[in-house]
Amino acid sequence: MAKKILFIDRDGTLIIEPSSGNIDTWDKLQFYPHVFKYLNLIATEFDYELILVSNQDGLGTHLFPYSDFQPIQDFIMKSFENEDIIFDASYIDGSLKEEKSPNRKPRIGMVKQYMNNPDYDLDKSFVIGDRITDVQFAKNLGCKGIWIHNRSGLGLKELTDTEEVLRETSLALEVKPLPGVIQWQEIYEFLKQKNS
Ligand SMILES: [Mg+2]
Repeated sequence: MAKKILFIDRDGTLIIEPSSGNIDTWDKLQFYPHVFKYLNLIATEFDYELILVSNQDGLGTHLFPYSDFQPIQDFIMKSFENEDIIFDASYIDGSLKEEKSPNRKPRIGMVKQYMNNPDYDLDKSFVIGDRITDVQFAKNLGCKGIWIHNRSGLGLKELTDTEEVLRETSLALEVKPLPGVIQWQEIYEFLKQKNS
């Protein structure tokens, strides 16, 4: 049977995104509330491949060298692994927005191998991310987006569709940070419905 995938963003989704800049020092690392509990349930109860897809602006330049990024990235992945949350693959694009790299989300250069591939069922797959560009990425991939809508107006310049079009065509679930709402719990419950 063709495999379903959850393409999961990192900053703002698995971990809190700082108000500016990259996560290049340990004091900027904070996991997203309740992500371990509910991603563990998602990973163990349902049959998705988990694939990390992240833009890391300027990674590999002197402003954001791998030596600042990789130890923190490895720690994040190991922390998830310790909770039985195993990512099948990770794709990190280090370009800057103005380079218009084909690998930078919402473009799909890094994940083309999953498209038009009989091993994968993108129709039943989702992108989970905190930016409207993650929903655009879902549309470009041919799946639907789960939007952890925690910050507004980000990435709008990188869209090829308007937010309205994306909401109509490619948004499966929008979870806002309302009082009393555990966003990762909402995502878990949505996926549970899809898998029942
Ligand atoms: Mg993000």
